[in-house]
Amino acid sequence: MRDAFSAFNDGIVMTNPYPVDQVEIVQAPLPDKVVLPLQQRIGDEAIPCVVVGDKVLTGQIIAQTQDVFCVPIHASISGTVVAIDEQIIPHKSGLKSTCITIQSDGKDVWIEREDCGDFLHCSPETLIQHIQQSGIIGLGGAGFPTHSKLSKSLDCHTLIINATECEPGIMCDDALMQHYPREVVRGVEILLHISGASQAVIAIEDDKPEAYRSLLMFNHNDKISIVQIPTKYTSGAEKLLIKTLFNVEIPSGGFATDKGFVCQNVATSKAIFDAVIENKPLVSRIVTVTGSGVVPNNFAVRLGASFAHIVALAKPDDKQHDIRMGGMMMGVDVATLAVPICKISNCIFVNHTKAKPHVQECIRCGQCNQACPVGLLPQQLYWHAKSEHTDRAMDYNLRDCIECRCCDVVCPSHIPLAEYFSFAKALHQQQMREKHQTDVARERFEFREYRLERNKQERAEMMAKKKIELKKKMANDKVQKDKIAQAMARVKKTKQDKK
Ligand code: SF4
Ligand code: SF4
Repeated sequence: MRDAFSAFNDGIVMTNPYPVDQVEIVQAPLPDKVVLPLQQRIGDEAIPCVVVGDKVLTGQIIAQTQDVFCVPIHASISGTVVAIDEQIIPHKSGLKSTCITIQSDGKDVWIEREDCGDFLHCSPETLIQHIQQSGIIGLGGAGFPTHSKLSKSLDCHTLIINATECEPGIMCDDALMQHYPREVVRGVEILLHISGASQAVIAIEDDKPEAYRSLLMFNHNDKISIVQIPTKYTSGAEKLLIKTLFNVEIPSGGFATDKGFVCQNVATSKAIFDAVIENKPLVSRIVTVTGSGVVPNNFAVRLGASFAHIVALAKPDDKQHDIRMGGMMMGVDVATLAVPICKISNCIFVNHTKAKPHVQECIRCGQCNQACPVGLLPQQLYWHAKSEHTDRAMDYNLRDCIECRCCDVVCPSHIPLAEYFSFAKALHQQQMREKHQTDVARERFEFREYRLERNKQERAEMMAKKKIELKKKMANDKVQKDKIAQAMARVKKTKQDKK
């Protein structure tokens, strides 16, 4: 492992715009109702295994899935299923999706689950299945299913625990590490056991000294090291973190596991502790509520509670607010506080509504090129994305853009570059799909033409062959006829000679 401070030169320095004196976790009261979407971050919609009117217990599976990329959905409170219908989910498009709504009975009665015993005596496969059945996905924001990542990590040599908050302003992982260091370290030990990795590195930014000290105090495992890295946005991006810590480049289109690394978020590690040691599925998470319109804090809240449920606890002022889910850089604006908290809702920004800056022409200053943490050329990408020349944008490695918005922040013309790149990626995918469909249709047409031509040729060859055979046969017949005639002539002549 190398010195992370000399290694990480890219990205931009951004401080928390809404710092707090003490990083706390406030236990949010049980919500009166929860709304649990069946559509997860990726994969197919889960299928409900309850109907309206059913009584459910906290932790009970209420929707199952056959999709290997998905996890079951658990009731996050006990109560009654009152609806299974379309509701707005936290998504930038304001999408609706089928959701199960549970009305609380106020008792929070948990279901009894079969545990998997001492994890050291469990096989990796058993633990991976238990993690999947506990509904655990990556809690850092990407939402990739943990069981799927773990099943590809069985040959990895190094486990990296990403304890960097992905963006300034988010404090939920800092709070988690300060308040649950023992659980985090134990979760890392479980992950070490599953992956068989020879070492684990917990990477934590240097602006979280309390969390760093807490983890140090509870770590007695020689295989686990806790390292501080510079607080620079986007040091927590997976490929950059591996480069920073180990000077290993994951090539464009490649995965960390290709080089023997597996990365997990620190909150996911705590969720794995809860599932394996406490035998509790994922039914709650810590959410930061911050911004100019509230008193920033972290709240432990049940999944499916509304954004409004915890924003109310952060004492919002009475001005008009813009709501953003996720970080101020990579998050998405949401139109209403009525949407439910889901597993990837790590932060809610509640800011006073401000007019957006006026977008001007690119002045080719090149500042965006210097700011890109993954070494892309946003200025060139912008021209190609704007003119919808997505192939050329791909030649400039558009697919490696992590949409971090570092280029947006430094752009003096206020061009929403990352939005252009996100659009160009989606457009390229669509063009690729259409091209694939066109290629398939053309190949089918060409094959049909070839088949017809081949049939015609085969038929012609067959006819020619038959003709030749017929001629031969006729010729043969003539020879035979001649022979018979000659024989009959000889017989006739013999008879005449006898007379
Ligand atoms: S949004 Fe993309 S192009 Fe812009 S700085 Fe981030 S990675 Fe680079
Ligand atoms: S920072 Fe903005 S104005 Fe400057 S080159 Fe990049 S896109 Fe153009």
